[in-house]
Amino acid sequence: MKTISGFDRIGEENAFAVLARATQLASEGHDIINLGIGQPDFQTPDHIVEAAIKALRDGHHGYTPATGIAPLREAVSADLHKRHNVDSNPDNVVILPGGKVTMFMAILMFGEPGVDILYPDPGFPIYRSMIEFTGARPVPVPIREENNFAFSAEETLSLMTDKTRLLILNSPANPTGGVTPRSEIERLVKGLAAFPDAAVLSDEIYSQMTYDGMEHVSLLSFPEIRDRLILLDGWSKTYAMTGWRLGFSLWPDQLIDKARKLAVNAWSCVNAPAQYAALAALTGPQDAVHAMVREFDQRRKIVVEGLNAIDGITCKTPLGAFYAYPNIKQTGWQAKKLASALLEDAGVAVIGGPDFGVLGEGYIRLSYANSSENIQRALKRIEIFLSGQK
Ligand code: PLP
Repeated sequence: MKTISGFDRIGEENAFAVLARATQLASEGHDIINLGIGQPDFQTPDHIVEAAIKALRDGHHGYTPATGIAPLREAVSADLHKRHNVDSNPDNVVILPGGKVTMFMAILMFGEPGVDILYPDPGFPIYRSMIEFTGARPVPVPIREENNFAFSAEETLSLMTDKTRLLILNSPANPTGGVTPRSEIERLVKGLAAFPDAAVLSDEIYSQMTYDGMEHVSLLSFPEIRDRLILLDGWSKTYAMTGWRLGFSLWPDQLIDKARKLAVNAWSCVNAPAQYAALAALTGPQDAVHAMVREFDQRRKIVVEGLNAIDGITCKTPLGAFYAYPNIKQTGWQAKKLASALLEDAGVAVIGGPDFGVLGEGYIRLSYANSSENIQRALKRIEIFLSGQK
């Protein structure tokens, strides 16, 4: 059998391999603290779970429209209006089995040999993997610690050419927790006028998770790029629904029919009861979301303070998402080796920076989606481990 060459280039997410190893070690009786995987440690709020159960009992067992049930697409539009003060047509919304699927679709739409796709580095590993799969040239846009892990408009624009078909942006960001400020986004949007053929995919899956008064600025709020902007957002992180596999996307007029056709070809529609749960999430009380964000904020302070107290480690204060991305260069360790040693010898799962891109050496990612108590225990273990290595 000879499959297409894309499969020689496709990658994956090492966070899942780390999760599998951590689970195996735990099942063998080791006390493992998992700061590896990026998923909230909270349960989905009750009223959302109840809505799914009710949908099942009410007989919502069949296919739905490929892009999602109308009330849910309307609720997404209303949510975008409420949060970003922008109007959108519910007919341009596509409900998908996970926010990740938006990037899959967008990269498939634009990637082919001979074109460039720009993506953040360090960044979510699937961007590069999918770009490579299509045969397009992946062009990393450096996300720098000196810049507080915001993307730089100037550096991004300097990498764009007439070959650029898609620019991927992510703020608040994985793995760094960086949030790009309004001024930088405005500069970028202005510069994009010189590249009218480049579409923009804005990954805003952490849109509700910012701290210290930092605002999340949605790319949606710039009318000048709306006709070429694809928005990725969803329920996984905001409502602690990673396992439900749900996401939403907004497409410009020119792309919506292509997106709908891809949905028809790939998954027909998202799980019907899950769509009713998603509707309850958007239209119901938001207290649980605010409580989760407040809790993440507390943990963020613990993790940053704890990391900065460890010899050889410095950690910028992340302004969004639920990740800390400390600089470990002074420890003398290679990042992936340190991540592996911390799991095997100290029982703490973290991810090495190189799993997020070529600029990841010298950093590790800690997800603080774990209890404050576990975070404190993990920090102690890291400190003891590193001091024992001197
Ligand atoms: N985008 C980023 C930056 C992420 O970190 C993740 C999940 O880790 C996703 C998208 C995918 O989210 P989902 O679980 O909804 O597919």
